[in-house]
Parts: sequence; C-alpha cells; structure tokens
Amino acid sequence: MSTETSNLHINPQRLLEHINELAEIGKIGTTGVRRLAHSKDDLKALALVEQWMKDANLYTRIDEVGNLIGRLEGEDPSQPILMLGSHIDSQPYGGRYDGTIGVLGAIELVQSLIEEGHTFKRTIEIVSFSDEEGSRFNKGIFGSRGLVGELENNELERKDEDGISRREALKSMGLDPEKVHDAAYDSDRLFAFLEMHIEQGPVLENEEAAVGIVTGISGPLWLTVTYKGFAGHAGSVPMHLRQDAFLGASEATKALHTIVQKRQPASTVGTVGHVKVFPNSRNIIPEEVSFTIDLRDIDLERRNECERELRIELEKIASNHNLELDIHEDTNSEPRYCADWIQNIMINQAEHLKIKTTELMSGPFHDAMPLSKVCDYGMIFVRCKDGISHNPLEYSSEQDIIEGTNFYYHTVKNILTEYSH
Ligand SMILES: [Zn+2]
Repeated sequence: MSTETSNLHINPQRLLEHINELAEIGKIGTTGVRRLAHSKDDLKALALVEQWMKDANLYTRIDEVGNLIGRLEGEDPSQPILMLGSHIDSQPYGGRYDGTIGVLGAIELVQSLIEEGHTFKRTIEIVSFSDEEGSRFNKGIFGSRGLVGELENNELERKDEDGISRREALKSMGLDPEKVHDAAYDSDRLFAFLEMHIEQGPVLENEEAAVGIVTGISGPLWLTVTYKGFAGHAGSVPMHLRQDAFLGASEATKALHTIVQKRQPASTVGTVGHVKVFPNSRNIIPEEVSFTIDLRDIDLERRNECERELRIELEKIASNHNLELDIHEDTNSEPRYCADWIQNIMINQAEHLKIKTTELMSGPFHDAMPLSKVCDYGMIFVRCKDGISHNPLEYSSEQDIIEGTNFYYHTVKNILTEYSH
C-alpha cells in the first residue's frame, strides 16, 4: 500500500473484521452472499450494522422505507447534512463487497474522526439504503429513491417470486407502508452525498490504481425492439422469399456494435442482452424476434446521436428483409455528473496521500443516482479483481479497501473543515 503510515487515519483491523463478520450473514459457499432486500438475513445484517453505528457513537433510526440512518449531530444543526452511504443488501448470488464497503467504510471513517476528537459544525448522516439491488421486487434503489421522494405509485404492490408484496415485506420489518412518503428529505436539508463502492468493472485494474475518482454515472437508454416477419418451413421457402425476423435482429446487433465502436475510446457502450425468438424452433424460419438494447454514455449528446443512427439502421434492416418494426422505450435516464468541487477535493487528497487514482465514469447506477437529483454528489471506486461483481467471486483486496477508506476519510474531513462555516 502506498499510503504512508502517518496518513493512515482509519482502523484497518476493525474495518476488515466488520467486513468479514457481515459476510457471514447470508453466506453462500465460501465467498458469496445472499441477502435479498427485507429478508431475514438482510434484517439480521442491518441490526449488526446498527450496533456498529451505535458503537461509533451515532444516533440511529430506521426510516419509513427501511433505510438505516446513523447520525452525528453537528454543532450547527442549521447547516445542511453531509450524507454518506451505500447498501448491504445483495444479489441472489452476490459478493461480500458490493455496497457493504461503502457502508462499513463510512462508519469506520466517522468513528475514526470521533475517536481523534474532531468536532464539526455540519451534521453527518450515514445511510445503509434499503433494497438497492432490486432483484427481489425487480425495481432497485428503493431506499434512496424513497429518501428523495421519488417512489412510484404502484411501488408497494410489486411482488417477489413467492407472491409477497413490497407492502407486506415492509410490514414484516415493523414498518407502516402507508408512511413510505414520509421518508423523503427536503432538498435543502442535504448539502452533499458521497458514496464509496467497488468498481464492478475492469478499468482500475487496467490502470493499476487501487482507487478511482468517479466523474459521473452514465444514463442508460433501454429499448425493446421487435421485428415481425413470417414463419415458414426451413427446408422449403427459398431464400429470396423469406421474412426472417432473426436475420433482422442479428443485423441490428451488428449495427449497434458498429455505431458504438465508431465512438471508441469514448465511454459509449451498447449491448443486446435479452432475445426472445418465436416460435424458436430448429426448422421454422423465425417469425417474431424481440430483443433489448442497452445503450449508455456519460455524454448524453453522444448517446442521443447513437440512438438516432441506430433507429435509421433499424428501419433500413426492416425494409431490406421485409419485416415490421416496433421500438419501445423502456427507460431513458440522463447521465448524472459528480460535482466538480468534490472531484477537485479528491484529486487534491490523492496528491496529498501520494496515491495513484484514475478518473472514470460509472456504468452501473448506484444509490448516488437518486441523491444526485437533490444535492451535489461524489463517488469513490475501489478496484475489484477482474471487474467481477454480482457474483460470489467478487473480490477486492484488503489493501485496496483500506486505501479506499482512508482516501474517503481524508475527503470527508476536508469537506467538513473547508465547507462548514
Ligand atoms: Zn452496489
């Protein structure tokens, strides 16, 4: 680790013990974790984290959407809050670092600040956000959307695979689902939000940097495209008479790839990830094919250009192969940029600590995304092995987590001293 000992202000043993102890709850195999939102294991983990918050001398509460909030009251309660946080729920076959290092790292750094005798004018809150992953009810960042007042109307009616609704799941936590909207903060209560998270991608490893400074979260455009042709016997219909919907889908996939490839090395990425073929039979020409398109970029104008080009290509392919075309827009989120002033503080702190960092954008979204709509935000990424995440094989080294958390400590301390008057 390149951090000099004199600059190490967190307690590495305590942090690593907490990470390991939490990983025992909902453990699968030797390294994996399964803590579905609002499940027994999720609640057990939440109770443990709440105890650690109390040990750190934070005042704790669970809000109306199930967020666990630990608060260190500032000397001047009129100043808007500096919020830190992430999540401890996981994918069904998830890893032990996704989200958890952001929650446990925040507790560690605040506890270290308290133990060193620092006092601050500004109040700090650490949030362990409820249901970030969204795998149980097929809709994520629930707690962070609740905190900024962005829940949808049918949110409580969503059901998991066992037919249990979000409403029932919240009730089983002892919460009153009728009050979910009370969790929302007025935007003037929040000063800024910071989140540390594993990268979930390969960039930091490639750059040989333990820590990354995030520039923003790219917004996904999700389309479902359907080509409709005509089914026929694979042995008898001559090639020039076919209306093969799968041919359309495969050319569309290639077209998307070409359009995105032209923009490299920019941050544009495009994926066809889910395909439905009808009738999906070995000896029938495919009649109807629906496929998803996931197009992302930190630069919205560039993403829009790609979308325009893609739509033209999709039309051309349809007419070349005599297919009907339908395009449905499922999601269209704008990129959210991290605040320049927070990125600058991070750059300065990295210089001060003499650690190598790299600037990068986030492809996945995080709890920081909803928070970005009500206050400035910044994110720190920690390198993870082979970019693997949402998988029991997910791994970040102890050194990288310590380096990331110590960097987080210095960033927060700097914000609290420079930006509280
Ligand atoms: Zn996560």
